[in-house]
Amino acid sequence: MARLAQELDEVIQQVEERQTELIQLVERLVRFETPSPPARNTAEAQRFIAEFLQEKGFQIDQWEVYPGDPNVVGVLKGQAPEMYKSLIINGHIDVAEVCADESWETGPFTPVVRDGVIIGRGVADMKGGLAGALFAIQLLDEAGIRLPGDLIFQSVIGEEVGEAGTLECCKRGYRADFAVVVDTSDLHLQGQGGVITGWITVKSQQTWHDATRRSMIHAGGKLFGASAIEKMMKILQGLQDLERHWAVMKSYPGCAPGANTINPAVIEGGRHAAFIADECRLWITVHFYPNETYEEVTKEIEEHIGRVAQSDPWLRDHPPLFKWGGSSMIEDRGEIFPSLEVDPEHPGVKALQASHELVLRRTAVTDVSATVTDGGWFGDAGIPAVIYGPGRLEHAHAVNEQISIGQLVDFTKVMLKFIYEWCRTER
Ligand SMILES: [Zn+2]
Repeated sequence: MARLAQELDEVIQQVEERQTELIQLVERLVRFETPSPPARNTAEAQRFIAEFLQEKGFQIDQWEVYPGDPNVVGVLKGQAPEMYKSLIINGHIDVAEVCADESWETGPFTPVVRDGVIIGRGVADMKGGLAGALFAIQLLDEAGIRLPGDLIFQSVIGEEVGEAGTLECCKRGYRADFAVVVDTSDLHLQGQGGVITGWITVKSQQTWHDATRRSMIHAGGKLFGASAIEKMMKILQGLQDLERHWAVMKSYPGCAPGANTINPAVIEGGRHAAFIADECRLWITVHFYPNETYEEVTKEIEEHIGRVAQSDPWLRDHPPLFKWGGSSMIEDRGEIFPSLEVDPEHPGVKALQASHELVLRRTAVTDVSATVTDGGWFGDAGIPAVIYGPGRLEHAHAVNEQISIGQLVDFTKVMLKFIYEWCRTER
């Protein structure tokens, strides 16, 4: 055991000595142009990752989630998988979209290294995290270290547009004793609140000439009709009331007060100026706390808006319609990111914390991400998970997106240690 521990220390040492290779791996991943939208462009990058893992002894499962966007799952079978803990390492290969007019130093997909950082689209979110985890796996493999527990590496598609490649992995049956989502967390151990989008539609079965307006809004007109746009104002007001009520009454440690927002993001409605608007659709984004589910919060909204509608003579007869979530922001204009609560007492969380503290000699911070990641799908599937990755949120999605090489090296060392320790822990 002592020999093994010393052996591991030597491997961890190598991360620093061989950081040029690590940087080259990040650069290699950045050069695959995988922005989403437009998406459907990850096949080459995924093939690269599949081959990388295969060379290290992983069994590869690759399948198309959308044409041109395959998921890759590599499984490194442990030597005694029934007796030792298994681990999922998860990351998304797609990156945030880039616009033609952005002023990058050298172009988003032409990475540059200077002043201790790597610049390029996706380095922080999250090709840096993917590369660090892959490099840790490479070093373990080269050192001839065999793990008794299973190691599963998931490189998924679609995260940036809510396409939930990770949900597809869960549906396909991949489970483990613990999962680490190596997305942007500045090396904090994080849970997250959740997000669900929804459409609220106010609809009249009848259409009316705009000249009938007088009859439907004034005394003696006797026309029981309404503008769907004007009725949506009541719904909007109701949503604001509920949002404020939530902000006042709900809280979660580590989340900014009032982070549980209901954002009226997009509104569409009416036909043209010669009609009374017979339909109005509101697209909302609902943020909720880690200890809430999307089923609960959408039920609260429906009940509250249902009562708002009951208080209006026309809406009572024309109740608003709700359509929640969706499987893609670009295919069906909807998404879900379930919340993820991190149990600080879970052995996986404690082991990752310990690896962080032993390797970096710094206290590990456990808090809540200000954004959402695929981590929620593990929470939803009942797989204990944490978000832990290099890179800072302020750099994610930004022009000249960057990552600190020092932090990338730290992350790789911690992952090396953690993979080694966790997959060697008895069940
Ligand atoms: Zn991300």
